[in-house]
Amino acid sequence: MSSLFKKMPGFHRLESLWKLSYRAIAIEPVLTRSADEETKYRIDEIIGRKTEKTTPDMVPLVFGDRVVFTGNAVKGLFRHVISSQLTSAGHTVCVQDVKAPKKGPPEGRQQQCKPENPCFICTWFGTGSRQGALHFSFLESVKNIGDVVARDPIPMIAMMDEFMATSVEKRAFVIVVPVKEGTEFTGWIKGVNLSGEIIGAVKEVVDMSEKGFIQFGGLKTRGYGSMRLEITSIEKYSTTPFKLEKEYKGEELRKFLESCQAEYHNLLTKTSSKTS
Ligand SMILES: [Zn+2]
Repeated sequence: MSSLFKKMPGFHRLESLWKLSYRAIAIEPVLTRSADEETKYRIDEIIGRKTEKTTPDMVPLVFGDRVVFTGNAVKGLFRHVISSQLTSAGHTVCVQDVKAPKKGPPEGRQQQCKPENPCFICTWFGTGSRQGALHFSFLESVKNIGDVVARDPIPMIAMMDEFMATSVEKRAFVIVVPVKEGTEFTGWIKGVNLSGEIIGAVKEVVDMSEKGFIQFGGLKTRGYGSMRLEITSIEKYSTTPFKLEKEYKGEELRKFLESCQAEYHNLLTKTSSKTS
């Protein structure tokens, strides 16, 4: 596959800088990953001590006054969806060493790429040994924590593996306080020397999210986490000298994303016709 996608010029050559701003709206209740005890108390106060337990077991991650997803969690989601789509199209992308099962990578995947010959995924998302060209910000709720958490805690019988992530105690009955539907989050993706293909791949994930297929955070199998994404603007900066070259918004943004997505679709087709 390495010969099929448009190569990134390399970090030694700074050709362009990009900022993709986006918003995410919760379609279902959402539980951003785990939280410390202090946050549990804080949320318990917000909802008004409705549970029989001292504090709820699963509450959103909070920074300052906002509910957040870490940039790493968002990046992992994009990486997973794009990797699995490319694999399904017949492209060979790698599995990071830290994620690979002991018996080797799953069918259709290769071992982590050598730094000098990265696959599409390593090029843009990086690996332990290689810097990626994309950087994901925290995804932050627009409103305050008090305005976004569900006021009625949800009791749930937990599977042990779900629950083990939140506590070392072994209770099977857990109290969940998610972020409510309709909550808006904003964030951005920064990039160095981006190609149309990778911007198109991001747009592809956005399209899937519109139909409810992209889920964030915990308890996905329980119907939590679906978020609708929308790219709100793209800024492209030239670098010699550094200045804003173009800001895509509205109709121009729509057209630009459409052309990037066409490049990405073209990449998907290239390999599937070659290997099948
Ligand atoms: Zn790779």
